[in-house]
Amino acid sequence: MNRVQTNSDLKDNSSYFADYHVHTAYCGHAKGTAGEMVHRALQLGLMEIGFTGHFPYPNGFTDPVANCVIPQKKFPHYITEILRLQEEFKGKIIIRLAAEIDYLPEYVEQTRKMVQTYPLDYITGSVHIMENKQIDYSEELLSQHIEQLGGVHRLWDNYWQHIEGLISSEICDIVAHFDLLKKFNVSKPVKDDTERIDHLLNLMKDRNCVLEINTGGIDRSYNHEPYPSLYIIRMASEKKLDIILGSDAHRPEEIGRHFKPTREMLRSLGWRYIIVFQNRERRYQPL
Ligand SMILES: [Zn+2]
Ligand SMILES: [Zn+2]
Repeated sequence: MNRVQTNSDLKDNSSYFADYHVHTAYCGHAKGTAGEMVHRALQLGLMEIGFTGHFPYPNGFTDPVANCVIPQKKFPHYITEILRLQEEFKGKIIIRLAAEIDYLPEYVEQTRKMVQTYPLDYITGSVHIMENKQIDYSEELLSQHIEQLGGVHRLWDNYWQHIEGLISSEICDIVAHFDLLKKFNVSKPVKDDTERIDHLLNLMKDRNCVLEINTGGIDRSYNHEPYPSLYIIRMASEKKLDIILGSDAHRPEEIGRHFKPTREMLRSLGWRYIIVFQNRERRYQPL
């Protein structure tokens, strides 16, 4: 069940609320036009909304699950539409044009070249696929994957390898849903991976990579915590990693979900700023 914010808007304090992870119906599995998403953001009093349409797969890569990303043919339309909305809503809300890319180890250079051809404000990097299998699609598909790999520990090991590859490739500005693999209940205690996670967060710090606090995880992951889990968020706070907030909205009602309590939690851990992007350049705004 999705718990959706209904009555409270977000403009009653000095925080700069920006939702940096939003999809539209250009991605086959999302509902709502970009315009509808912007209207909802305005209703909530957001200062910024960043569209992160799923970037088309590289040539030669076959979709493991149909309808996930914006097809190559449609991507220019997505760009045009977001740029048009930027003009239409000028002075009312800041709209950022971004994309969520898949980390596919064999296609990193092709993806890097492809994203450079678009005027994106920022790039969010994700691991949704390993060995050509979608890891966040269904529990059943994931179970098959675990069996093939020989256990949950191997699966996590493989996942962290992919996250490390994503960070090291420097192909993105932000790492999305850092521990997405916990979506279904196939997890092992996050504490078991403390050393590994510590290493990955250090690597992010070193590569100037921003950590996404993805509030979609509160509704969608089995432990009902954001991506990443609180345990990892605490580790990131000690390292003072730069962060952004993203709802991973696939429908207008999901924009800015759980932002207020999440902001309080982040402030209690010492964060005072979030990052905003324009033309791949970053600035700080008050959290
Ligand atoms: Zn994603
Ligand atoms: Zn997404």
